[in-house]
Order: sequence, then structure tokens, then C-alpha cells
Amino acid sequence: MNADGTIVARKLCKSFGRHQVLRDIDLTVAAGEISCIIGPSGSGKSTLLRCINGLETVDRGVLRVNGEDFGYVEKDDAYHAVRPKRLAEQRARIGMVFQQFNLFPNMTAESNVMSGPVLVKKKDRAASREQARELLAKVGLEGCGHKYPAQLSGGQQQRVAIARALAMEPTIMLFDEPTSALDPERVGEVLAVMRDLAGNGMTMLLVTHEMGFAREVADEVLFMDGGIAVERGDAREVLGNPREKRTQAFLERVL
Ligand code: ADP
Ligand code: MG
Repeated sequence: MNADGTIVARKLCKSFGRHQVLRDIDLTVAAGEISCIIGPSGSGKSTLLRCINGLETVDRGVLRVNGEDFGYVEKDDAYHAVRPKRLAEQRARIGMVFQQFNLFPNMTAESNVMSGPVLVKKKDRAASREQARELLAKVGLEGCGHKYPAQLSGGQQQRVAIARALAMEPTIMLFDEPTSALDPERVGEVLAVMRDLAGNGMTMLLVTHEMGFAREVADEVLFMDGGIAVERGDAREVLGNPREKRTQAFLERVL
């Protein structure tokens, strides 16, 4: 069975020193599904995303991404890190977009988008440039390829960041509060690109405070608080009719 575009986490735990940040997190994202993670600041949302793309290692639990044990394999009751090369291959199939864009400031938009294919995939420069142009057009930035990040608005930079992630042809896209650093009038243009991606069947896992967007595009919502997956289920149910008191209190505050 082809498990591309799937994420399965079972009893995922992660501590920083003595501070346990993820406590037995369960999460399943099916191929093509849009899942949103909501919750107060400090609840572990970014850490969960960072574990799923290998920026952090997990301490315990199962993490399968694209149908493979991710980052480590469990054998003889112990965890063994996968070879660095294998981890790099696994990570290359996951796109991530950060709140602060994280573009290379000394590279043009086009070079930013080309960087992954050329440096990581060793893809031909001309073909990578052509692909970068197409992707920039797709995110509404045709003709902006020669500009540097500082010459672009926040919304434009974030769209370059999305194009850069897509250039690696990922099976999964992770977004960590992609619109939180934007001026309000720039939020819509980024959400429009994400809506388009969602409509095209990309598996997406998204940390967001945009409840309207979550309600509109998400299949499932996970509410986290204090490192715990408090409530998970159908997006309309969790957002419209939450079962748990903590979810209710959070939604009352943010809506
Ligand atoms: P959220 O994204 O929900 O705001 P985070 O995952 O960023 O939450 O953080 C969860 C908790 O983990 C916070 O208490 C934060 O201070 C702590 N934390 C996050 N990253 C680190 C780190 N690299 N070292 C130590 N503590 C961290
Ligand atoms: Mg965060």
C-alpha cells in the first residue's frame, strides 16, 4: 500500500531537560487530509511539528511519516537513529513553512526557491530555475524572482517560502503559524495560496490561530494544552461543539 502523505504518531513524548513538552501525543493524518493544531502558546505545537520534520528528535513513541519509521527505528526495545543520509531523504519529502519565513536574505526569491533542488537533490540548474519560475507564478509572484527578501512584503516573502518548500516536491506540508507575523491585510494572500494547495490534495498539518480558515479547510482539528492532546476530531465538531472544558475555554478566548 502506498502510504505517501501520511503521518502517524503514537504516544509521542518529548522533554527538554526535565520539562516534558509532549505527553503521549496521538495523531493521524491521512493522505490528502488537512489537519489543524490549535492551542495556547507553550502547549507544544511547534515542538510537535519540529519532531515530525526531524528538527527535533522524539524521546519515546512511534512516529511514522510517509509509511516509514521516521528518524529512528525501534529494535530490541531500544531506539536506533536512522543513518543521517536516510534521515535527510526522509526530511526532503516534508515541506515546512515557519512563522518568520526563514528565507536566505542574501539570495533572490528565485535562488531561494531553487536552493533545495540544486543543493539537496543535485537537480540540473536550468530545470530548477524553470521550476522556480513556475512555482513563483503559482503563488502569485510572477516576475518577482529577481527580488531579494528585503524588497518583498511579509506576505510575499511567505509565499516565496511556500514555493521554496514546494520545490522539493514534498508529500506533506507543515505550516507553523504561517500568517502570525503578517500585517492583517497580508494574511489573505497567504491563506489563498494554502487554500489552493489544500484543494489540490496536498497533505497539510497546520498550526494556526486562524479559526475561520481552520473551519473552512480543515478535516481534523487537534487541540493541545500543556503538552497534551486534549481533544481531536472532526474540525467542525471540535471548533463548533467542543467536548472538553479546556477546548471550550480556549475557543471562547480566541473567537
Ligand atoms: P507552542 O508552539 O505551542 O507555543 P512550543 O512547542 O514552542 O509551544 O514550546 C513548548 C514548550 O517547550 C515551551 O514551554 C517552550 O518554552 C519549551 N521549549 C521549546 N523549545 C525548547 C528548546 N529547544 N529547549 C527548551 N525548551 C523548549
Ligand atoms: Mg509555536
